[in-house]
Amino acid sequence: MSSQHRSAAVPESIAQREAALLAPYATHSITTAGRRHVEDAPRRRGPYEIDRDRIIHSAAFRRLSAKTQVFTGEMGDYHRTRLTHTLEVVALARRLGRALRLNEDLIEALALAHDLGHPPFGHAGEDALDECLHEAGGFCHNRHALRILEVLESCNPRFEGLNLSREVLDGQHTRIDHDAQAQGVPLEAQVVEAADSVAYDTHDADDAMKLGFVTLEEMLEVPLWRTAARRVRARYANLASIELKRAVLVELVDWQLDDLIARTEERLTAGELTHDWVLRQMAPLVTASPEIAHEKTAVERFLHERVYRHPQVLVMRNRAQSSLREMFAVLRAAPEQMPESFRARIATDGLDRAVGDYLAGMTDRFTQQQYARLCGAVDITARASAASGELRLVSPRTLAG
Ligand code: MG
Repeated sequence: MSSQHRSAAVPESIAQREAALLAPYATHSITTAGRRHVEDAPRRRGPYEIDRDRIIHSAAFRRLSAKTQVFTGEMGDYHRTRLTHTLEVVALARRLGRALRLNEDLIEALALAHDLGHPPFGHAGEDALDECLHEAGGFCHNRHALRILEVLESCNPRFEGLNLSREVLDGQHTRIDHDAQAQGVPLEAQVVEAADSVAYDTHDADDAMKLGFVTLEEMLEVPLWRTAARRVRARYANLASIELKRAVLVELVDWQLDDLIARTEERLTAGELTHDWVLRQMAPLVTASPEIAHEKTAVERFLHERVYRHPQVLVMRNRAQSSLREMFAVLRAAPEQMPESFRARIATDGLDRAVGDYLAGMTDRFTQQQYARLCGAVDITARASAASGELRLVSPRTLAG
């Protein structure tokens, strides 16, 4: 336990409920290392319920609705945003957590926060900001999520940050550099990691098919998808293409989650395993079977080649990156263009980090508006469309907005 953190009492009703329902190797609220700043003892909620509520009510969480997961909002309304991806991870991680009798409140808080640090335009935006902030220590979305939780958001005038429980902050920290951790990772954080992987591998392929980047027939050539389709066809004969696609997507998720639960249970039923025992294990306990893990690697290789490097994705990537670089240079030269809350951070965190914080917090849409305001009258989408001969000028009303 960090000496900087203090425990607050956990309501007796919460402690009793968890003692009855959770496994001994779960993270029980009563063992929390507490919060950096002492607060009044909660009356009805457990510590991780409070954390979950603070994350959901943060501005950074709301902005996930207009941030790119893989495909930008201009490409359509079917595919995932960073928010819907996050909610899918919450759902899958809670399924795993309930089956394994883990702390679902902690899982929910960790899953809701796991992608909070993404800048506009996903990994394209992250790479551009990392380059811009090279002299200031770089930019990494997992590290930025911690900065949002500990510094940039606020829920109380007495301190900066959301003053979350140590376990939520530690869980996010393990996403940065697990190898550097002095101890193992709680199972709640491990199931979030596994759920994230199942969610993006499956749903990125679904979105890519909808956008026409790959076909169902091509996906069914990939071994994991081929096996899932065989399992589906054993239950349902003569499915039309659209029905087969939907059934395979469901099967992929169910099959992988069942596999993760079975593999993890095998390891956890070997004896009276405690939470401390889990923390002494340096290798992850929540892992897929070797067969599925091997086939998942092939799915990821396929997505990398055919989806993440698709020409349309690369056009948006290049435009988004050059726009962020230009905005970074303009705001660095004219920080008075930033809101006061970010200008105020220059004295403590430096000009580059303050500009990076401002840019990283933007939604895709707000980035386009601010790009038009700061750098010219043609927005990012228009520049991307110009490559295909369709130039869209930004109206004066958009510029004013
Ligand atoms: Mg994610």
